[in-house]
Amino acid sequence: GNPENQETPAEKELRSPILCILGHVDTGKTSLLDKIRSTNVQGGEARGITQQIGASFVPVETIKEQTKGINEKLKVNFRLPGLLLIDTPGHESFNNLRSRGSGLCDLAILVIDIVHGIEKQTVESINLLRMRKTPFVVALNKVDRVYEWQKYVNLSMNEELKLQNRHTAQDFESRTNKIIAQLAEHELNAALYWRNSDYKKVVSLVPTSAVTGEGLGDLMLVVVQLMQKIMSEKVTYRNTLECTILEVKAIEGLGTTVDAVLVNGVLNEGDKIVVSGFGGPIVTTIRSLLTPPPLRETRVKTALIPNKSIRASMGVKIVAPGLEKAVAGTSLYVVGEDDDLEELKREAQKDVDSVLATDDTE
Ligand code: GDP
Repeated sequence: GNPENQETPAEKELRSPILCILGHVDTGKTSLLDKIRSTNVQGGEARGITQQIGASFVPVETIKEQTKGINEKLKVNFRLPGLLLIDTPGHESFNNLRSRGSGLCDLAILVIDIVHGIEKQTVESINLLRMRKTPFVVALNKVDRVYEWQKYVNLSMNEELKLQNRHTAQDFESRTNKIIAQLAEHELNAALYWRNSDYKKVVSLVPTSAVTGEGLGDLMLVVVQLMQKIMSEKVTYRNTLECTILEVKAIEGLGTTVDAVLVNGVLNEGDKIVVSGFGGPIVTTIRSLLTPPPLRETRVKTALIPNKSIRASMGVKIVAPGLEKAVAGTSLYVVGEDDDLEELKREAQKDVDSVLATDDTE
């Protein structure tokens, strides 16, 4: 879980923002996620990321470490406990989260292949992000495939570009300008992040390579900076419960479980919950809350461990009776003492209806 003990009181008030990666198939979403994770796990560092259910937690210390060299100019001050990366990249998982209640991602990375430019699912992703009012940055991935690209380590992308030969710089500029023009056709203003002076109106473009790792530090910095500029209210830890179901899975010995991301608030063992179900809302009681054990040197798959309670942001496997017909992409509600069960059931039903309505049009 989160390393609570080293945080200042102000940081404690902030939960980890949740980051989703989406974009067209083959643009490098999985590779980017893997690279972010492997960079952080390398050398078996104690402060490496922790694998959660459906998500990975990247502590702020790791991000600081990773961006040390290039943060001299940007001077981002870190005020977040870390980032929670949703592990299933892209389209399906994000598109699944259709119910109005499921506000899963605080921020997204939209991946565009710098060689291919905007593709069909890029446009779909932009529409989804817009519909959900999710702020995002663009990773212009596969920058290593720009004509005669030279790799430099520990430099910001801005500095790297200045060192490229003239033809490479031209190729980069023309590809980038073409993408900026394509984005403009979809009513999006975009600019390379070091030229972006208005984070609220202009989307930042960050050149990256998931193969060489170039630009990943830049990407993390731009993400953190944007989070902190516009999200500080939203990512403040609140008691209101927000929990989104990512997957419904039958597990031998446990029955049907749901993998969920707790976006805000606390879940407890024994909580009475309402879950959207095909065939009507499901009212049940949490039998256990499972998370992987803390990351150790070994990569051996160990059993999940039960928790008395879970605090946002966190990926968790929920075991409860009667979850067979639960619907992925919907919200989970806890029935508190003052809550009206019937009203929560109606909310849950609305979630299912919106999921079914979307299915019909596909
Ligand atoms: P996804 O479908 O968006 O998750 O894309 P993948 O991560 O599976 O990548 C698709 C292909 O592009 C794979 O063969 C990757 O090795 C390759 N790829 C991903 N990122 C890069 C990159 O930055 N540079 C280059 N040259 N290839 C990349």
